[in-house]
Amino acid sequence: MKKQVIALLTAAMLAGAMAGCGSGGADATTAAADTTAAETTTAGDTTAADTKAEAEDEAETTAAAAGGEGKVLVMATNAEFPPYEYHDGGDIVGIDVEVAEAIAGKLGMTLEVEDIAFDSIIPELESGKADIGVAGMTVNEDRLKNVDFTDPYTTASQVIIVKEDSEIAGPDDLKGKYIGVQLGTTGDIYASDYEADGSTIERYNKGFEAVQAMQQGKIDAVVIDQEPAKVFVSQNEGIKILDEALTVEEYAIAVKKGNTELLDQVNGALAELKESGELQAIIDKYISAE
Ligand code: GLN
Repeated sequence: MKKQVIALLTAAMLAGAMAGCGSGGADATTAAADTTAAETTTAGDTTAADTKAEAEDEAETTAAAAGGEGKVLVMATNAEFPPYEYHDGGDIVGIDVEVAEAIAGKLGMTLEVEDIAFDSIIPELESGKADIGVAGMTVNEDRLKNVDFTDPYTTASQVIIVKEDSEIAGPDDLKGKYIGVQLGTTGDIYASDYEADGSTIERYNKGFEAVQAMQQGKIDAVVIDQEPAKVFVSQNEGIKILDEALTVEEYAIAVKKGNTELLDQVNGALAELKESGELQAIIDKYISAE
């Protein structure tokens, strides 16, 4: 069953990548025509509009050639998802931020982090306001209709958080209960299936708000990604994570549909980070092995 889900995902991703190739033809011409421009871009033509267009045009250039030299890579995220992205004082930090920084570094670009609502990330990529969506984002078929995803950089799962004295002991017990989720997430999608069983889904903008609502007795359980769940449970008394994981998911970086140049560049950088062990080192910095 789980294998089927993954196989489906892989097939969907392939289809997405192929669709991207098809529409990439026009861009390829631009990029080819731009080869000379790329050589001269190092100068000071740095208006924001230029920056984005050039970053995309130059995406043909290999990472090694650092075609994006000096350009801005805008990352859209929702910094309410520790340990992947969260606020630390005035900074936004976490695994995704460090991975994106390492990718930008390899592409010779400067990373700019934009903190927005989770369900605004895909529209932001579609409109071209952001280049990459890095937000512990699970690859799924619905999203693949609107964006392309890179190769996955980690696996994840949904879990259930309950109060320590809760009668809920597993997924079946969610029937008829009040379940809190973060709006628009895979937890939301999963929990919504229980509406047919008489459950009520409460959707919050931040996962932590769902946890607070549970502590105030407004809801019975929270369905959320495992690593943020661990962080929330470690920071709050009287709540626990149930053993049974609900899903198997893969996180990847989203780019505008059809932007195969950027997709290839980011995939190239990601492969290097996997190969060198840098990716694992970043993950290990935030998630201790059990
Ligand atoms: N992995 C979940 C999803 O993609 C949650 C992501 C998040 O809340 N940042 O929907």
